[in-house]
Amino acid sequence: METPEQRIKVAVQKTGRLTDHSIDLLERCGLVLTKSKDQLICYGENMPIDLLLVRDDDIPALVGDDVCDLGIVGLNVVEEKRLSMEQNGSKGQFKQIFELEFGHCRLSIAAPDEARYEGHNSLEKTKIATSYVGLLTDFLTKNNIDAEPVYFSGAVEIAPKLGRADFICDLVSTGSTLKANGLSEVETLLQSEAVVIQTLAPLSDEKQALVDKILQRLAGVLRVHDSKYIMLHAPRSALADIRALLPGSEAPTVMPLEGNDDKVAIHAVCRENVFWETLENLKAAGASSLLVLPVEKMLA
Ligand code: ATP
Ligand code: ZN
Repeated sequence: METPEQRIKVAVQKTGRLTDHSIDLLERCGLVLTKSKDQLICYGENMPIDLLLVRDDDIPALVGDDVCDLGIVGLNVVEEKRLSMEQNGSKGQFKQIFELEFGHCRLSIAAPDEARYEGHNSLEKTKIATSYVGLLTDFLTKNNIDAEPVYFSGAVEIAPKLGRADFICDLVSTGSTLKANGLSEVETLLQSEAVVIQTLAPLSDEKQALVDKILQRLAGVLRVHDSKYIMLHAPRSALADIRALLPGSEAPTVMPLEGNDDKVAIHAVCRENVFWETLENLKAAGASSLLVLPVEKMLA
């Protein structure tokens, strides 16, 4: 039985936009989880990996301070933490590993619909309400804009109506919240999605091996996203044309067909979705008996 220190701890958002996706992704890596009574920890039943359920804003610090080995959090939160630490003269003690293809949003500056926006000049000597003071300050400095960030911890979009700011700088995904508040996007500062971060503290060999294993599985789960396994028959003479039509596939398997010297069977993993048009083009190139299957797991 391993001690608590030997178990991998992953910081995950407790309740919010990233929660279900983060847990689902780890479950698709083969992790079987049980929630503690107080709902603060999910214990890994079949692997020495536990999830700490916390506020997303706390995740970079938990990983940076080596309380957790890994964290799943929005790039917006990671970059904000990194910049605010840099602006205070310290350095983030975590590294970003890879993007997880969910939680997409962008950090944008938005102006009241009635305001005339004519580029960076329009921001000069204004107040911009935001929860992302680090990222906003970085943008203003890099673009030599003299504007004042005003910190709002939430409900940033009402700041102009309250007369507390001229613009806002906040996360946007569909833009419907901005629209409902009479605001329109004028500048995009950062494109964001959920990422995995890892502590910079050295791990024991066993822990590092387990972290590597879980990261490899995560990469595998992401790779199968949209991947399809395609099987078809084709005349040998059409092989080159058909290979060129297979979307995102590297080396298809080509097999002879019993009792038919002119035709072969082709199997390939396509790293993109296979659309009806592709199937129709393959058929037009001579393919027959086309079959497209979903891919569940993949290990390079
Ligand atoms: P917590 O209580 O954990 O602090 P929160 O209110 O800060 O929660 P959520 O609103 O759940 O956080 O958002 C979590 C993350 O989801 C954001 O940091 C961002 O990376 C991502 N996200 C995706 N789309 C949006 C959006 N439209 N607005 C806000 N965040 C979004
Ligand atoms: Zn938060």
